[in-house]
Amino acid sequence: MSKKLVVANWKMHGNLVVNQQLITSYVQKLLPFKNIQVVVCVPYPYLAQAQLLLGQTDIAWGAQNLSKDIEGAYTGEVSVRMLKDFGATYVIIGHSERATAYCESDENIATKFMQAITHGLTPILCVGETLIEREAGVMERVVAKQIDTIIQMYGAGIFADTVISYEPIWAIGTGLAATPDQAQSMHEFIRNRISIHDKSAAQRLKILYGGSVNPQNAVQLFVMQDIDGGLVGRCSLNTDEFEGICRAASEISPS
Ligand code: PEP
Repeated sequence: MSKKLVVANWKMHGNLVVNQQLITSYVQKLLPFKNIQVVVCVPYPYLAQAQLLLGQTDIAWGAQNLSKDIEGAYTGEVSVRMLKDFGATYVIIGHSERATAYCESDENIATKFMQAITHGLTPILCVGETLIEREAGVMERVVAKQIDTIIQMYGAGIFADTVISYEPIWAIGTGLAATPDQAQSMHEFIRNRISIHDKSAAQRLKILYGGSVNPQNAVQLFVMQDIDGGLVGRCSLNTDEFEGICRAASEISPS
């Protein structure tokens, strides 16, 4: 079992004052959990603040999106090089809140995934189905299409040392997390899908679960064989709750 990874997704929350308090308290409270990796994905304008406050700690920081292009006339976009300028080492890609609202295609998401890897950032690729798709029993087909687009464009080897976060859309921000069995079943499916093409990449890939993770359900989720940690939205904005989730990860993670 590999070291657990817990990623905070702050979404569009925070300001300079609140972030300072939150990060300072993350640093203090998460200090004992040396056997896990914690990452904080902040809104773009606060990358410099994250770099300043986290630079001397074990907590890594990253962004919640990046441009598929490197430079040019793309008003409002932020490139991977710009993220690296602020010490970011991770980037969330294809979060459903973006994919839906900004009509991101699987191909666009795949290009961003490749762009991150090419420039030395670890991408956290979000995949997952809607409630209608789950109820129709097509969730694996939906997730397979999201992953296969990347395999077809760049080959399965690209997944080595990257992160996929399985985020059933019906579980995000709803308080209704997937059960550990539902999550494990999809995580196993994802790993197998990549393993068919590249066994080593599938083993080196981390698969997080995201969707209403909280201190009460974290242990049951993280203990599952193919769940390598969590992507945490709402509970990452409350240090006590985030600490509870990190504690759960630390209890299970190899020391
Ligand atoms: C997320 O935004 O990726 C997420 C999992 O949110 P929440 O934890 O609030 O469901």
